[in-house]
Amino acid sequence: MEDDRETQKHSGGTLRLFVDHDKCQGHGRCYISAPALFDADEEGFAIVRPGGVDGPLEAAAQSAVLNCPQAAIRLEGEDSA
Ligand code: SF4
Repeated sequence: MEDDRETQKHSGGTLRLFVDHDKCQGHGRCYISAPALFDADEEGFAIVRPGGVDGPLEAAAQSAVLNCPQAAIRLEGEDSA
């Protein structure tokens, strides 16, 4: 089990998602395809769920970045060394 922790550390630690609300058009691709990471506000625009991105969520987050038609999603590493 300790090996798993080492692997997570090695993969760069926690990543964070950001949505640029000036660019988001509310298509909904992100919160439909990755509801664990995104939610929608009352008007259908994307909001990022609280918490970091790690483990299996990382692939979903990268996919959301690539599939946002407005390029409104950014995934950044948190350098907490
Ligand atoms: S896919 Fe992009 S444009 Fe569509 S709701 Fe999500 S952030 Fe907004």
